[in-house]
Amino acid sequence: MSVRPYREIARRRSRQIHVGPVPVGGDAPVTVQTMTNTITADVAATVAQIRRMEEAGVDIVRVSCPDEAATEGLRDIVKQVSVPIIADIHFHYKRAIEAAEAGAACLRINPGNIGSAERVREVVRAAKDHGCSMRIGVNAGSLDKHLLEKYGEPNPEAMVESALEHAKILEDNDFREFKISVKASDVYLAVAAYEALAEACDYPLHLGITEAGGTRVGTVKSSIGMGWLLKKGIGDTIRVSLSADPVEEVKVGFDILKSLDLRHRGVRIVACPSCARQGFDVIKTVEILEERLAHIGTPVSLSILGCVVNGPGEARETDIGITGGGTLANEGSANKVYISGLAHHNVGNAEMIDHIVDLVEKKAAEIEAAKAAAESAATESAGTAAAE
Ligand code: SF4
Repeated sequence: MSVRPYREIARRRSRQIHVGPVPVGGDAPVTVQTMTNTITADVAATVAQIRRMEEAGVDIVRVSCPDEAATEGLRDIVKQVSVPIIADIHFHYKRAIEAAEAGAACLRINPGNIGSAERVREVVRAAKDHGCSMRIGVNAGSLDKHLLEKYGEPNPEAMVESALEHAKILEDNDFREFKISVKASDVYLAVAAYEALAEACDYPLHLGITEAGGTRVGTVKSSIGMGWLLKKGIGDTIRVSLSADPVEEVKVGFDILKSLDLRHRGVRIVACPSCARQGFDVIKTVEILEERLAHIGTPVSLSILGCVVNGPGEARETDIGITGGGTLANEGSANKVYISGLAHHNVGNAEMIDHIVDLVEKKAAEIEAAKAAAESAATESAGTAAAE
């Protein structure tokens, strides 16, 4: 029995597939993916964008492959980046075969859209030969005509039926290394479709609220839709769709997972909204710290509270905590610094930001060193056991 059962998420049991070396489904952590918006044939621009995504922690990246120049570009792109690449194909079976040959780790393709059974067989053969998985992507906005006629509108039943029809084609070709998405821009429709699909099959699910909008609205819609599903244990990989820099999608994706305690990456900042009691400018401090601590991938928790009303309580639960002690105009060392939940020393407003950055960087280095030591001890003891 858990100490805090209200925080437990019982994840749906899905089968596990791989996107390159990254496991998706089963007991693998929920992964975060995004998509480039550069011209894929422009290798330098696409690689530069993927590197920025990698710095933000992305697990998987998708690139569009609408033409032969794109699949040619893909061949060079995969060699220059570390994350596995999904080739977004949609209709043309030849692009799928080229992408598999060029090193794509996964193909986003709906087998029912590529024509004859022979074409499907060729794509499946290429995927098997090159170790590619696939993603079936059903979208409420582009449902097959026969399903729209049957159901009258894009509803959850139509979306699930479409997904299972595409899945059946791959199963008939003895191919089960795929995940499925049933996206819609309407939160209720997407959630209902994913819930029904989660019941109907055990394939891993790629979550997304499609065409969610700009950063603010898209983040809210994605957080509600995906948060709802993730809390119910549904979802193995997520993509936040924003009309914004795709690096933002990665950051929001991690923030959703961090909020539900499903993944821990980078600095998790707990901060108050500030009010007249604040002993330093909380909003500005948090804004600067988010920027200056963005390079840290190690999970570290940090609380930034403007005064003693909630400061000590939050600091008790975080690795490093700051609680404002004086007034905004106070030049003295009135703010209290907490280390591992305990009051430790004071710091003044002027030097506070540099001091926090320094403390967080040191804490991250300490955590990494402890992790490395534990890993090397585990490897050593495994070696000793093998030798015995
Ligand atoms: S912690 Fe203090 S400064 Fe921050 S909002 Fe609460 S009362 Fe205001």
